[in-house]
Amino acid sequence: MKKVPLFIEGEFCQSATNDWIDVTNPATNEVIAQVPCATEDEMQRAIANAGEVFKSWKETPVSERARLMMRYQALLKEHHDEIAEILSQETGKTFEDAKGDVWRGIEVVEHAANIPSLMMGETVENVAREIDTYSYTQPLGVCAGITPFNFPAMIPLWMFPMAIAAGNTFILKPSEQDPLTPTRLAELFEEAGAPKGVLQVIHGAKPQVDKLLTDPAIKAVSFVGSVPVGRYIYETGTRNMKRVQSFAGAKNHMVIMPDADKQQVISALVGASVGAAGQRCMAISVAVFVGEAQEWIPELKEAMAKVRPGAWNDSGASYGPVISGKAKDRIEQLIGQGEQEGARLLLDGRGCTVDGLPDGNWVGPTLFAGVKPEMSIYKEEIFGPVLSCMEVDSLGEAIDLVNQSPYGNGTSLFTSSGGAARRFQHDIDVGQVGINIPIPVPLPFFSFTGWKGSFYGDQHAYGKQAVKFYTETKTITARWFSSEAVSGPNFSIQMR
Ligand code: NAD
Repeated sequence: MKKVPLFIEGEFCQSATNDWIDVTNPATNEVIAQVPCATEDEMQRAIANAGEVFKSWKETPVSERARLMMRYQALLKEHHDEIAEILSQETGKTFEDAKGDVWRGIEVVEHAANIPSLMMGETVENVAREIDTYSYTQPLGVCAGITPFNFPAMIPLWMFPMAIAAGNTFILKPSEQDPLTPTRLAELFEEAGAPKGVLQVIHGAKPQVDKLLTDPAIKAVSFVGSVPVGRYIYETGTRNMKRVQSFAGAKNHMVIMPDADKQQVISALVGASVGAAGQRCMAISVAVFVGEAQEWIPELKEAMAKVRPGAWNDSGASYGPVISGKAKDRIEQLIGQGEQEGARLLLDGRGCTVDGLPDGNWVGPTLFAGVKPEMSIYKEEIFGPVLSCMEVDSLGEAIDLVNQSPYGNGTSLFTSSGGAARRFQHDIDVGQVGINIPIPVPLPFFSFTGWKGSFYGDQHAYGKQAVKFYTETKTITARWFSSEAVSGPNFSIQMR
């Protein structure tokens, strides 16, 4: 049985723990590896070593740190297919989708290679006679990242390349459900020439996360995952005086105006709701049809009925299994609850099977209409291939509905009216807005800006905000005397 190594003190090593978690292939439920829950001593060694290495890493010239990222992005591209294959096997994602997961991470590494200009401070000459003020951006120290199962390449790569390029050292705690991809990312980082101990990877669950949240040596924590855990991480991390950015769950609405292009709407809805088996924090899980656009629901049903899940290497499959048997049971139970609460179940994905893979966690495409805000399928993040259709009379009503949602990760509007688009993008209380784009994930020179219950903190992932999150600003006011004149002591604030 493959045992996933820890990566501590610059070495890949076997944990001494007796506590191991099975990693399964979601298409077969075969155990493909075991991941350790790192011991207290191993955690301690990783944190201490990251603190020690920080002293030299922060002195490494910024262009050298940038060059490490240049070599790393090139290596990731060279190994793109190989990483995607590992990722497919442990998540069930189709190969093409797995490649996209890796690619979105590579783009962040490319961005991290721009670190010299991203870290520039500000200067003003002559703030007073012969006095100049300038600011530097300095790293924080040891930072930590805790990542979810659904993007095992992209989300770790949102975090450690930006933090390390900024001069920090980093401890990653990947999801215990798919640790093989992040392990490969760490191996390639070492191969790219990362000095020993700059990145450490520890594994485990709540006890290991709690150590990262409470140890005083850790200065900042980045988290991506579910709502209850996200809240816990934010509350516990900040109570322990750390900087925390916590990205949590979502319920993303797509609003459809009757003047939109019907075929584009249907394609966008099918892809954005069931792609990756609906296990994306930016997936569209609610379609809000305005007025006559409601008449398109039967055609949407026809298009969704043609979609089928399958194995990662089946080129005819649109998406793979959900991550675990537990996730499948939860999704199926929520579908049942939706039916009981009075939603119209147009397509039922329960009991789905795939030829040759009888033990996989399959859920077929599922479509509800007549969904109301008080129903469980509307209130809960289902995180499966389930789309809920709602019907409203006006754009104003749709905007109110979206704004009442406790989440604010992503939303989109499909329309041919510039006026409607302008009103929607201005009035909507959601941090990432698509106009005729169903999943508006910003590229890394922007930041990933979820709002409301989808994000706790203030500085978001990647882009300029990540540099702010992983650094501190030091402002220097300096006076160099150019004349011989010596002034006497000042006892009051100078007003000039
Ligand atoms: P999860 O919250 O179960 O796990 C995330 C991480 O937290 C894992 O590393 C896990 O080991 C750890 N963890 C789990 N329980 C914990 C506890 N009680 N205490 C401390 N740590 C704990 O999330 P998941 O199921 O892996 O991921 C899916 C969720 O992530 C969805 O809700 C999805 O919307 C969300 N997500 C959000 C974004 C975003 O950018 N907002 C992006 C991707 C995923």
